[in-house]
Amino acid sequence: MNITASYIRQRLQGDYTSQESGNLSRLICCEILGQKAVDYYLGKDITLSVKAEQELESILTRLHHFEPIQYILGEARFLGRTFYVAPGVLIPRPETEELVELMLKELSPISRILDIGTGSGCIAVSLAKELPESQVTAWDVSEDALSIAASNSKSLQVAVRFEQRDVLTYSPDATERYDVIVSNPPYVIEAEKQEMEQNVLDWEPSLALFVPDTDPLRFYRRIAMLGLEMLVPGGKLYFEINRAFGEDIVSMLRESGYHAIRLQKDISHNDRFVIAEK
Ligand code: GLN
Repeated sequence: MNITASYIRQRLQGDYTSQESGNLSRLICCEILGQKAVDYYLGKDITLSVKAEQELESILTRLHHFEPIQYILGEARFLGRTFYVAPGVLIPRPETEELVELMLKELSPISRILDIGTGSGCIAVSLAKELPESQVTAWDVSEDALSIAASNSKSLQVAVRFEQRDVLTYSPDATERYDVIVSNPPYVIEAEKQEMEQNVLDWEPSLALFVPDTDPLRFYRRIAMLGLEMLVPGGKLYFEINRAFGEDIVSMLRESGYHAIRLQKDISHNDRFVIAEK
């Protein structure tokens, strides 16, 4: 069977905006069906084998159910690198790229870094890649996440130490010391669910996204406490945060004894990062 990109676009149109359908059809043609970009832009036909035709149908069905294209492709880009992703981990977000870029501007090249709630490993692996003399440790409570993160550290050829830990219950041993702790913990509250896209809500792990409305600072408070034990004096915390709780997190950190606390905006002008020193 012969098809064109515009056929794919049409099939997607009921569920997606025309811009989304365009982007998705380009990814399907070029990344999955192997069409050359130039042929795609010229609108040339693609000849599909029976197998490729079945694959295309299965992809269109998955997209009809709003499965994120990154899960379908099995990969997501983060700071110019390709990370393997699957439904057990959050798909890396551009805000988190900003967080890592901010850290790279500020960190000493030889740091002991701990990433709490590593998910796909995008933060830990990118830092290990860019700061090869640093020691990077990454925790997650989810075994699925750790196995995906480990496969990313392997394919991107860095040595990150992965540990299965639940930050809410873990008590550190007295010898564990870090210069930097970074975390992008779950920070979406239940009340924000109605504004979220279906592909996020139906497909991405709730464990990585949601905190109870009654305690939106749960993870930050806990990590700040652990930081007091595990950070060296002058050690730094880097948080990605819910834009609605910036001031609350700053006050919590101040009350916990941190100083040089900064609240920073992301590229969309939302409060998105908090940095503090022990
Ligand atoms: N930024 C993500 C979202 O809005 C949430 C990430 C998180 O909870 N850490 O979908």
